[in-house]
Amino acid sequence: MPNVAPLRPPDESCSLVTGASRGIGAAIALSLAATGRPVVVGYRADEAAAQRTVEAVERAGGKALAVQADVTVSTDVERIFDSAESAFGPVTVLINNAGVRSDQIFSAMEPDDWNVVLDTNLNSVYRTVRRALPAMGKARFGRIVNIGSVLGGRSLPGVANYATAKAGLEALTRSVAVEVARRGITVNAVAPGLVETELVRDVAFLRRSARAAIPARRAATPAEIAACVSFLASPEAGYVTGTTLTVDGGLSAAAFLPGAVHD
Ligand code: NDP
Repeated sequence: MPNVAPLRPPDESCSLVTGASRGIGAAIALSLAATGRPVVVGYRADEAAAQRTVEAVERAGGKALAVQADVTVSTDVERIFDSAESAFGPVTVLINNAGVRSDQIFSAMEPDDWNVVLDTNLNSVYRTVRRALPAMGKARFGRIVNIGSVLGGRSLPGVANYATAKAGLEALTRSVAVEVARRGITVNAVAPGLVETELVRDVAFLRRSARAAIPARRAATPAEIAACVSFLASPEAGYVTGTTLTVDGGLSAAAFLPGAVHD
């Protein structure tokens, strides 16, 4: 009988969440910090918001450090890992959450719309995961959770860039998972449906039709997404790898709901 006790991270180690200045990332940082391990709060531009995440973690009794890093810039990715390692030790939990939209009908989608979304939502994960794996391999423990979207498996008009990035993210998740599973490292994705954050504040039709289109009749809270991420990041989830956990209030399970309109 093999030893199936969950493998645990080293005492001196930390979690890193990209895009944790607000929204889903901030909720994930808060949730992960509750396990007692320090969290690095990554952000691109909004230092004050990142600091608010740090303060929320500290108020809850946890430890956090905000580090500016644009995930589209390789040297920034290097720097955020360096900062994490010198403050708290190796990153054994990596949450790739930073993401942007730049919606446009495909025929009008300019290279900038395409490139910024692919670079932020997908290429960044290539950068962070490659940087993270050596230390996780050495620790014989690693948890990587990539934040996808239900739009990785279905679509809407105007989101070809975003849907392509999120579909690619799921493929990357599976591919890396099968390569590193033997080293105690798991790689999974969480695919939210609609979550009330800044990212979707301007998508009026989504919010209007959410009650009708989503079987749960509401958007998710960031904390509901964070709870699922925290499970996948836990030592107890060591046998879950290469999978995508959909968290969408039943949206992608439903064939048709009367009143669901995407106009
Ligand atoms: P928000 O717009 O609220 O937050 C996005 C975060 O990403 C911010 O912290 C922002 O930092 C950061 N960020 C953006 N670009 C970069 C970059 N280049 N480098 C580093 N950080 C960056 O988004 P959500 O919380 O809603 O989204 C989080 C994730 O969840 C995304 O991957 C998104 O695609 C996914 N998702 C969201 C859904 C929703 O309905 N909200 C549904 C499905 C998936 P700063 O403030 O400093 O710019």
